Parts: sequence; structure tokens; C-alpha cells
Amino acid sequence: MRFDYGIIGGGLSGCLLAYYLILQGKRVFLVERNTIGSGASGTPLAMINPATGRFAKKGFKSLEAIAQIDALQQISPFSSAYDFIQNRGIIRPCFDAEIAQKTNQNYLADQWEKGVAEWMTPEEVAERFPLINRNFGGLIVHNGYVVNPKMYLQHLINWLKYQPNFSLLEEYEGFNSQSHKPDNTKQRKNPNYWIFRGEDIEMQANILIHCTGAEEIINAMIPGVIVKGQTLQFRLVDSAYDQTPVQVVTDQINHTKNWSSFLREYAISAQGYLCSLDGRNLVMGSTYEHRFSNPKTDLNGAQYLKNKLDRIHENLSSKIVQESMWAGFRFSTPDRMPIIDEIPAYRGHYVFRGLGSKGLLHSHYYTKIFSNYLCGKGFLSKEVKLNRFK
Ligand SMILES: Cc1cc2nc3c(=O)[nH]c(=O)nc-3n(C[C@H](O)[C@H](O)[C@H](O)COP(=O)(O)OP(=O)(O)OC[C@H]3O[C@@H](n4cnc5c(N)ncnc54)[C@H](O)[C@@H]3O)c2cc1C
Repeated sequence: MRFDYGIIGGGLSGCLLAYYLILQGKRVFLVERNTIGSGASGTPLAMINPATGRFAKKGFKSLEAIAQIDALQQISPFSSAYDFIQNRGIIRPCFDAEIAQKTNQNYLADQWEKGVAEWMTPEEVAERFPLINRNFGGLIVHNGYVVNPKMYLQHLINWLKYQPNFSLLEEYEGFNSQSHKPDNTKQRKNPNYWIFRGEDIEMQANILIHCTGAEEIINAMIPGVIVKGQTLQFRLVDSAYDQTPVQVVTDQINHTKNWSSFLREYAISAQGYLCSLDGRNLVMGSTYEHRFSNPKTDLNGAQYLKNKLDRIHENLSSKIVQESMWAGFRFSTPDRMPIIDEIPAYRGHYVFRGLGSKGLLHSHYYTKIFSNYLCGKGFLSKEVKLNRFK
């Protein structure tokens, strides 16, 4: 079968790129070695956090990127999008004077749009969010989201499966550097399509796009590092859900008085994130390991996350019922911006990777730009091109 595009990798990058190309009437096949969302995109819960990094800097194109989240509503005609994505105010409490100073400086310099973000003094945090430990003040950003990325990708794939121009090969391990060859049967110097041969299958595509996250499949030199991240999934012991803080709260802020109502309105980002979709099942993420020998979840990672919990609320880790842990790997570029470009030594092959810790924030934005470029409707700006590293 002949397609316009062959996409390798069924994470956020690959699935969303397929979605935008199909919307433009292109024929697309997607190959996933495991199951959809089995890479970094399978993190149990994740945040769309417009204030990024240690000092809560307004993320690159964060408001434009968030505006595209509306597209999510279109891909789940049979179920409520609220199952897998919900708006949350994201609180960034500062537990250290230096972090508070730099976060406040960023807040002032970033000039957030009216009503999107506010700086809170330590007293204001204590009054509005009595569950959070004493701190040096903090930022609140009102237009964040908590997402179950795997569920989200499943909805996206269900929509794609109904599209006549889309084909999916899932749990297919046959795609490797040997499996795709240029069409040189007619001795063409510059092949204009690629033949992909698996054991019992043959697909043809004009262009191949590698969305393989932390894994490479051809020997192209793509600058960046692989970062391991671990998360902890848990519930609180029953009594903790109903805990009323010692501080007296006014009527207006009564809703923050117990964990389940708090987590249905807010998520916390403080060098790690604490969030929930239903107010009862919580995720604390994530560790950040650049050098790791064990690719699996481990007890050190779990302890690191429990320490973060205690920093948010005294002895919170002693009130949890641990359910599971998860580990994944993301690809991070030297300047934290993604790479979207044709691979110089491999004509007709594109790479799209490096969404880093902002995969949910930026995947819609960049896949839309990339699909427009592939369809001849725009260009790739220099901040995503490979030659910026020369
Ligand atoms: C612990 C953790 C927490 C995170 N938290 C957040 C967060 O809160 N907010 C946020 O925005 N981002 C977060 N991220 C980052 C986000 O998950 C990533 O940026 C994003 O998922 C990357 O998507 P991707 O499609 O590029 O890669 P992946 O999701 O890794 O997808 C790559 C896919 O390619 C497949 N593949 C690889 N090789 C082949 C092959 N040869 N043939 C076929 N298929 C192949 C893999 O199986 C995989 O499914 C987090 C990441 C981790 C690890």
C-alpha cells in the first residue's frame, strides 16, 4: 500500500502528527513497536504547566500551545474529554528564599496575560492553601491541566482508526534500520518513496518520520540526552482526605480544606508535581535522572518522591497507601527545544523528538506546525532545526 507519510512511534509526537496530517487529507501509516503510549507518553498522570523550570518561567509559546488543547474535545465524540483532561490551577509554592526571589522576578518580567497568573505572599498562600507547608510565597497559574496521557492517546487512536486514510501497525517490532529501503528498483538516484518491508507486510511512503522518543532507529547524530523519570501512584489513608487544616478559613476559601476537594481544583508543582484527576487517586512525579544504571522503578526514586511529598505537607508520606510506581525515558535537547527536521544524511527521513518535560504543553503546537510544513503550508523555524547546534 502506498501512503504519503509513514510515522514510526506511537507516542504524543507520532499520534498527534498522524492526527493533523489526516485532518489535511493525507494518507498515513503509523508503526508502534509496543502499544500506543508505551513510551514516555505513558506516564500515569502529567501536567500541562505553562510555568516551567525551577523558577516558574513562562514557557515558550505556552499560551498558544494551551489554546490548541481545545482540539482534544473533537477526538472523543463517544466519551467525555473530562475523563482524561481537566483544568487545574497550578500552584508553585517556593520552599526556599532564593527560589522565591527568582520566581517572583520571572513573574514580574513575564507579564502574564490578565487573570492567568498571580503572585502570592507567604501569608496569602497560608490563608488560601492551608494544606501547603510554610513557604516563601508562590505563583499560581490558572490555566493548567492534569492529563491522563495514555487515555488521551487511546481516544486519539480510536478516532484515527475510523479514518479511511489511516493504517496502524501496533506491537510490530519489525521496523529497524534494515527494514526500510529506498525505491531504487528503477535505479533512481533520488528515490521519491520508501519501501518498508516487514516479515509479512509491505508499506510504501513518500516520507518517513521518526517519532521514536528516547530511542533511535537510524544512526543519525541527534544532539540530546536521555532522562529517566519515575512516578509514584497512591491514595491517602481515608482519614487524610477529610483532614481539616488548623488554620481558620473564610467562606471563600473553604474549598481548599481537604485533599480531595483541593486536588479537584489544583495541582502542585514544586520541583516535582502532585496531581489527581478524581481527587482520590494521586500521582507524585517525577525524578530526574541523567545518569542511571537501572532502567526500572527503584526504591531510591520512591524515597525521593516521598521526601518531596513531605516538603509539600508535613509527614504526608506517612499518610499514603502506595499503589504502584512507573518509570519512563524522555529525550531532552541541549536547549530544551524540540528537533523537527529532515535528517541530512537520510533524504526523505524526518526526525521529531525532544519534547522533553513539556510534551503535553507543546505536542499540539509543534505537530500542527510540522504537519503544515509537510503539506507545503508553512515553514520550520530555526529554533527547531537541526543546524542550530552547529
Ligand atoms: C516520568 C515522566 C513524567 C513526565 N511528566 C510530564 C508532564 O507532567 N508534563 C509534560 O508535558 N510532559 C511530561 N513528560 C514528558 C512527556 O511524557 C514526553 O515529552 C512525551 O511523552 C514524549 O513523546 P514522544 O512521542 O516524543 O515519545 P514517546 O512517548 O517515548 O514515544 C515514542 C514511541 O516510539 C516507539 N518506538 C521506539 N522505537 C520504535 C521502533 N523501532 N519501531 C516502532 N516504534 C518505536 C516507542 O515504543 C514509543 O511508544 C514526562 C515524562 C516522564 C518520563
